Amino acid sequence: MEKRNVTVLKCPVDILSLDEALSCTVNAVKNNQNFHVITINPEMIMNAQKNSDFFEIIKNSDLNIPDGVGVEIALKLKKVGQQRIRGIDFSRELLKSASENGFRVALVGAKEDVIQKAKENILAKYPDLNIVYSRNGYFSNDDEIINELKNTKPQILLLGLGSPAQEEFIAKAKNQLSGCAMVGVGGSFDVFSGIVKESPVIFRKLGLEWLYRTALQPERIKRIFPVLPIFLLKCIMNTDKD
Ligand code: UDP
Repeated sequence: MEKRNVTVLKCPVDILSLDEALSCTVNAVKNNQNFHVITINPEMIMNAQKNSDFFEIIKNSDLNIPDGVGVEIALKLKKVGQQRIRGIDFSRELLKSASENGFRVALVGAKEDVIQKAKENILAKYPDLNIVYSRNGYFSNDDEIINELKNTKPQILLLGLGSPAQEEFIAKAKNQLSGCAMVGVGGSFDVFSGIVKESPVIFRKLGLEWLYRTALQPERIKRIFPVLPIFLLKCIMNTDKD
């Protein structure tokens, strides 16, 4: 598969469908390879502009799925027609595929009651899913968790610590685990648990998911503004250079 043919503010973004993203992730696991998937959004791209270590992680990952309507607009400015792939949709499909393929799965992130409820709901949906490890995302010693993962040998790791912590953790874990696809899922466990409501389809179709989330969690406004407008402005100014 042809990958990494577009950059947005120097960050590689993969142009592909949800099915293609899923099949290359599953193939990597079947071939016993480690595979780091980032669901890349404007906040991450803006962070990479000032954080060179994070920029390196984004450059060295295996797949950067375009998430966030801002990335879709940035690609449109480059005349690249790519529909964004919602991170949570990718995670759902990956869990379904893990269940069908009998992959060992680890779920790490969110608060204790949230991850417990998320696990329960995920198992209700995929009763055959082999969850070999799960724990909350509030820990101070990454190495301890990496050791537990080494012992339980997951083939799929969904990690919801928020960015950049989840990407930094995966970059560290990548050399130590084997045959594992690792995906930073942000706040997806909050949604899987039912504690945070998923935006209604109409908001998703209009690309206004961010507006819905901000209305539910007004404290998020500080994260979106001014990051999103500056991101778009930078993209407009850099369309030819990038
Ligand atoms: N979180 C965590 N450990 C931490 C800080 C945050 O597990 O030390 C979790 C938090 O409970 C939430 C997720 O990380 O479930 C971050 O969600 P957010 O909506 O901020 O992430 P986004 O989807 O915007 O990247």
